Amino acid sequence: MKKKIYLDYAAATPIDPLVLKAMLPYFEEKHGNPSSLHKFGQEAMEAVDLARETIAKALGVSSIGGFKEIIFTSGATEANNLVLRGVIKSLQVFDSSRIGGGRKYLIKNPRIIISAIEHKSIFETAKDLRREGVEVVFIPVNRNGIIDLKKIKESLNNQTVLISVMYANNEIGVIEPVKKISEIVLEFKKNKEQIYPLFHTDAVQAFQFLDCNVDKLGVDFLTLSAHKIYGPKGIGLLWAKNLKHSFLVPIITGGGQEFGFRAGTENVPLIVGFSKAVSLVVDKKRREAVRMKKLHDFFCRGIKKISGKIEILNRYKALPNIISVYFPSFSAQDMLIKLDQHGISVSSGSACSSRSLEKSYVFSALGFEEKKILGSVRFSFGRFTTLNDLKETIRRLRKILAD
Ligand code: PMP
Repeated sequence: MKKKIYLDYAAATPIDPLVLKAMLPYFEEKHGNPSSLHKFGQEAMEAVDLARETIAKALGVSSIGGFKEIIFTSGATEANNLVLRGVIKSLQVFDSSRIGGGRKYLIKNPRIIISAIEHKSIFETAKDLRREGVEVVFIPVNRNGIIDLKKIKESLNNQTVLISVMYANNEIGVIEPVKKISEIVLEFKKNKEQIYPLFHTDAVQAFQFLDCNVDKLGVDFLTLSAHKIYGPKGIGLLWAKNLKHSFLVPIITGGGQEFGFRAGTENVPLIVGFSKAVSLVVDKKRREAVRMKKLHDFFCRGIKKISGKIEILNRYKALPNIISVYFPSFSAQDMLIKLDQHGISVSSGSACSSRSLEKSYVFSALGFEEKKILGSVRFSFGRFTTLNDLKETIRRLRKILAD
């Protein structure tokens, strides 16, 4: 029986055993509802508060009571929906001048700016908001996937309420110049005394390797997800700067949890697991980045040695753990199946869309020709990937290509 090799960390990471250990008591004896006033409730609330503080610290949140800026959600998809829909919703007012009443925006024709390679949870949400009268500007990227900063500058106007650009992409790992974008936003706001545009970044893939200090990045909102950092699925968060302001309204209403920004009983075990996962990443970040770079270089060299025709598509400013490989004589789907038969798990393009044969809009935005879009496979490594796993992967790949 061949050893199974999992190389799809960008889709989901396995749970770290220490995360599981931290969570278990909250599935068992510590099962209280944080809203309850008795001892069980208090214990649960303390765990949630501690998790909030731990994560706020990891994000470098410096303001007093800054932990209250963390809003736990069911994942990054919900956090991304909350920021886009919540900011737009906060601008809506009732318009009695319309027959039967209706809604209008406080800022006429509000504009949202996003990159052309955002994750679907941003991309599709922005498209949905367009149907509600919001103008959406998609900023192109170059061949390496880097966003066009000049176009961002040109697209800013007084109607722009939100910019959302991911820190690192999930399909090709490209790292976007978030700090530079926040500088552009700051420059635009100078002498204007306005809070808009607000700036959001989806740091789901970036958190594992890059510095996500929110002050240094200069963002107003940041999204994270636990299941990309060895935590459980079904929990994520939106960090929202200075929530006192009324520029965000909830999209899920009810019992007023999460400071009124996301109703629903807190998922205590998952929140505890998320916070443990964050702490472990913080402890290991530097070392892992160095180790991952070594694995990355070893794998790229090994792939190239198999055949000069195989192409590595992301070689510029990308996360060290995501490698997109184009195999000229295979479709991505065929290669994925062959690899799976040989015990190696990878994705074609984004895991969210690899079940459909839809062409990746991310690769299209990069300007790759059709055959490369349809023939590229994503290998992504992580904490439990070893050099031997990669040696073995290259050996099996060689066999697949020789058959
Ligand atoms: N953003 C990015 C960059 C992602 O990679 C993902 C997961 N593929 C998401 C958002 C959605 O995360 P979740 O599964 O927690 O909803």
